[in-house]
Amino acid sequence: MVVISVANQKGGVGKTTTAINLASALAEKNRRVLLVDLDPQGNATTSLGFNRHQVFISIYEVLIEGIAVRSAIFPTIQNNLSLLPSNENLPGVEVLLSQRPDRARILIKALSSINSYYDYILIDCPPSLGILTLNALVASDGILIPMQAEFLALEGLTQLLKTIGIVREDLNRQLEVFGVVFTMYDGRTRLTREVEEEVRGFFEGRTTVFETTIPRTVRLAEAPSHGLPITMYESSSNAAEAYRNLAEEIINVTETRIGKGLAGADTGIGRVAEEPGREGDSAGVGRMGEGDSPHPDQAESPPAPPLVP
Ligand code: ATP
Ligand code: MG
Repeated sequence: MVVISVANQKGGVGKTTTAINLASALAEKNRRVLLVDLDPQGNATTSLGFNRHQVFISIYEVLIEGIAVRSAIFPTIQNNLSLLPSNENLPGVEVLLSQRPDRARILIKALSSINSYYDYILIDCPPSLGILTLNALVASDGILIPMQAEFLALEGLTQLLKTIGIVREDLNRQLEVFGVVFTMYDGRTRLTREVEEEVRGFFEGRTTVFETTIPRTVRLAEAPSHGLPITMYESSSNAAEAYRNLAEEIINVTETRIGKGLAGADTGIGRVAEEPGREGDSAGVGRMGEGDSPHPDQAESPPAPPLVP
């Protein structure tokens, strides 16, 4: 089991889009995947077709009220992909968590009871380096940093890498940077190519900059309004292929390195530094229906382990 934070404190760089579509691509490859929506904006929850106003047991109730995490996990329309959603309570969570002595370890404790059900847990982080992101980094084996190839791209990274360094020193020695992925990529522009070259040079020998780049395409922006990952919304699109390729690269990085006990991973910076259910969703598979909103009765039953061949 590998926990990956999809993190970058810069807003709008493609964290949520990457978290959802990478999660879905990994699930397509028969990995059992849990996506945790740790962002008070709840975009991952909404983008997978859930109505966050009707999510009654969410990551908030898990973190603040100590509700069993398994009662807050729901299947999604993608086989093998489950969601631990956010709801409208989450925006108050930073203040409440800050008063707790164990404030950085609440998520890791919550996830510890369900680790064995999943091959990958992906955490969609908010665009800040507050207590929620801190909880994600403490709970993670590694970070995936989505980044836009634009002017000052590296500048924002410095702060993130510093935070990673602090977390590694004080809270989670295992934390890695699994890699950086370019999102909204348009290789036709000179600026994109120049920034890409600069970023690849900066990280060379220190951490992975994935070969796969995610193309800028309106399809990726459209898919959430249909409550679907790109792999289902337009399965044969370049964007869907890109996320499948990224999934392959992630599998290579994580499964080989984890298999070696992360031995070969000493890489500089990596080490230092609903209407539930979408309208027209025919089967409604994996969606919350009106009658089956999250319910405490489910607390005792584990999430159905996604099928693995
Ligand atoms: P936030 O920091 O607010 O959480 P984020 O980093 O999660 O934002 P996203 O929500 O994934 O970023 O993306 C920001 C916007 O850009 C969204 O409207 C999304 O649909 C769009 N977008 C993301 N990736 C692409 C892409 N490759 N091509 C076109 N549009 C994209
Ligand atoms: Mg987001």
